[in-house]
Amino acid sequence: MDDCTNIVTMTDHSDSYTYRARLQQKLKQQAITQDDTGCWIWQGQLANSGHGKLKIQVEGVVKVVSAEHASHIAFLGEVPTRHLVKQGCGNRLCVNPEHLELLEI
Ligand SMILES: [Zn+2]
Repeated sequence: MDDCTNIVTMTDHSDSYTYRARLQQKLKQQAITQDDTGCWIWQGQLANSGHGKLKIQVEGVVKVVSAEHASHIAFLGEVPTRHLVKQGCGNRLCVNPEHLELLEI
């Protein structure tokens, strides 16, 4: 049941501000800041790829996204289609929005 309570839910677009604030809070709760690099190291669930993952719910649809993708949504805004979020710092567990870059695919 832990999994269910872990979902950050967005009911509709008008709720977008609150949703992003909740997602920001969750990312901060589940990450530890590394003093030397400034990286926010994800402590939550991991995907097979070794990247962090979490569930988000947008308009009733639950999606599993990478932690860095969720961080981009929370702090920087929606990820454009055909783009991937990658860490410029090279740490695949980093969710610091200042370290995130968009990569066109
Ligand atoms: Zn980083």
